[in-house]
Amino acid sequence: KLVMKVHGTVFEVNLDSLTHNLNYYRNKIGNQTKIMVMVKAFAYGSGSMEVASWLQYHRVDYLSVAYPDEGVVLRQNGIKLPIMVLNSDPETYHKLFEYDLEPEIYSLRTLKAYLHFKTNLYPNSVSKIHLKLDTGMHRLGFIEDDLETLVEQIKATPNVEIASIFSHLVGADEAEHIDFSKKQIAQFDLLSSKITAKLNYNPLRHICNSAGIIRFPEAKYDMVRLGIGLYGIESSGIEPNALEVVGTLKTTISQIKTLGQGETVGYSRRGIIEKESKIATLAIGYADGYDRGFSRGVGQVLVNNVLCPVVGNVCMDMTMIDVTEANCKEGDQVVIFGKKPHISELAAAIGTIPYELLTGVSERVKRVFY
Ligand code: PLP
Repeated sequence: KLVMKVHGTVFEVNLDSLTHNLNYYRNKIGNQTKIMVMVKAFAYGSGSMEVASWLQYHRVDYLSVAYPDEGVVLRQNGIKLPIMVLNSDPETYHKLFEYDLEPEIYSLRTLKAYLHFKTNLYPNSVSKIHLKLDTGMHRLGFIEDDLETLVEQIKATPNVEIASIFSHLVGADEAEHIDFSKKQIAQFDLLSSKITAKLNYNPLRHICNSAGIIRFPEAKYDMVRLGIGLYGIESSGIEPNALEVVGTLKTTISQIKTLGQGETVGYSRRGIIEKESKIATLAIGYADGYDRGFSRGVGQVLVNNVLCPVVGNVCMDMTMIDVTEANCKEGDQVVIFGKKPHISELAAAIGTIPYELLTGVSERVKRVFY
């Protein structure tokens, strides 16, 4: 494989690993269950157009984005797969129709507004909508009391089809929430059946995210919504090394200096040199998505196979590390996170989750696909 070396900070995306992970989940769910892939938030930082094109080539069934504009970009770049939009508001409904995007409808307010918009402006086009049920997350979603009005209003509007009914698990990855997840699944079963009993067709049903697929295989229904697992982050309960990390954040060493005891590094003199050390300045900072929480040894960077700690505070565009133990020179490429240091471990070190690190890799960081 030829990997082009780009100077500065790059986020390398390994599309073969993405395929590996997709196949892993495909084997898990079997061929009776469809796959929707979450490509919201720039495909978890990995580049939504490229990832979506790759997924289209690999024939996933559905894509999902958070906002209409994310879907518009996909359509403008040749993505033909059905796209579900999690959160659209009445001001953006015209984009759904212009770009053939399918909204999540989650409340009687949004249902009314959507049906009104459709009846007035697009009466003849068939609208596919996705109904979100609140089974315990208490974020977006219909509750039981809404169901009767919901179905009545949809049935009374020509050319509206419920493409799917779905809900979201609050803690599929957490052993302490197994009972709660099971309650959510039971509630989903109940509420979704109440809707389908009043229809003469069967919308797809789905509740499992990546962790749900592993922990609740009995709840895979007609479709699953795959997110973080596709990008190679393992949920608990999965076989070790089942997945391959897809994204690796790398940067280069801009300068190396030898500093003596008592000197300090960076803003506010927070990096204190205790004995003579080799300090390297990296071309990455918090504006690239390298969180300031990695300051002062919390973050470690892989330099030619040696883990080197951050010295002082992470700056906006640069970070200093102690490379005394590493064999390196100016211009060398180093790994900020990926398989090692692992994205999940680094996230835990600053009290966050891998999702935030991945989606936090900023726009100015070049994505390189291989
Ligand atoms: N479904 C919904 C509604 C989501 O918001 C998300 C992610 O936030 C997912 C599925 C995918 O979850 P995961 O990335 O844990 O697989």
